[in-house]
Amino acid sequence: MYEYLGNLHMHSTYSDGSLDIEDIAARAAQAGLDFIIITDHYTLKGLYEKKEGYQQGVLVMIGMEANVSQNHYICLDISQEVKNNDEYPQEVIDGVNRQDGIGIIAHPFEKGSPVFGDGIKYQWTDWQVQDFQGIEVWNFTSQWKEHVSSIIKGLFLLIYPHAALTGPCPLALQKLDQYQGQGKKIIAVGGSDAHGFKMKAGILWVTVSPYETAFRCINVHVLCPTPLSGQVADDKYKIYHAIRQGQLWIAYDYFINSYGFRFFVEGEGKRWQMGDSLPFSSKLTGWVFTPKPALVKLLRNGIEVESSRGRQHVFYDLEPGVYRVEVYHRHLLGYRPWIFSNAIWIE
Ligand SMILES: [Zn+2]
Ligand SMILES: [Zn+2]
Repeated sequence: MYEYLGNLHMHSTYSDGSLDIEDIAARAAQAGLDFIIITDHYTLKGLYEKKEGYQQGVLVMIGMEANVSQNHYICLDISQEVKNNDEYPQEVIDGVNRQDGIGIIAHPFEKGSPVFGDGIKYQWTDWQVQDFQGIEVWNFTSQWKEHVSSIIKGLFLLIYPHAALTGPCPLALQKLDQYQGQGKKIIAVGGSDAHGFKMKAGILWVTVSPYETAFRCINVHVLCPTPLSGQVADDKYKIYHAIRQGQLWIAYDYFINSYGFRFFVEGEGKRWQMGDSLPFSSKLTGWVFTPKPALVKLLRNGIEVESSRGRQHVFYDLEPGVYRVEVYHRHLLGYRPWIFSNAIWIE
């Protein structure tokens, strides 16, 4: 498998971001990303103005984020804008599905900050909806805002945003596990939601979570069966295909890059990757490889069933269920959340 590092949620000057797509691509290149997906609010202008393609070695793809005051929905792999419908988000979901796109519920349990952005929060309110493809379980900007509980804390987090990054949203993970437990193939993603907000602090303008910082924090790594070719249409297809299949993990790569992480199940000479489902048989083994020694928790149907420390982790005799792994690496004060896999279904 070929591994590519990217970020799939961010805003440019086509909506409320502070940089244009060319500048964002330059920051992504500096951060070592292979691809980015621009998801401006309510618009595919970037696509219509032919901004997709390779820029500074980064594959730039364009989707959008629908809805205004609630029920934000990331729409990927579409060619026409999807109309907002804050009240009935099922309409938005259906609009993406009609184009065979990929739709992801964005930051569903955002809490907002009492001192930043007037306490506004953008939550998902309608869980009766069906046929969406994914849930964004870790959103850098939402989590950053949530931790800005006072001006002093905000100033501290401007300098050291890592103090806010405590792991994926527990409620979003719970929703994910709940849907997956019902047999629904919902994928988990994480994103920067980078805007490069400009804010006035006294006489100075400061940038809140600049793109270059955000691109070093909550990203996704996708696995493709064949390498990217440099042909834009082909490579777009490969990346979107991997996302659609759930062949990806979410990583907080700032301190240790998770490049080389793998999670798969083996049995009877076959191997299944994240996003795959396989029929139950005896002697199925789960394998996890971490690029540095780490604590790996294996979850079955959302509940931790085993854990392992080291670089190579083996879990024998897996029973039927939905499996995903959470990986934590050690630091001075304990363990830091690092890698959150997509699921493998043993049916
Ligand atoms: Zn949003
Ligand atoms: Zn956004």
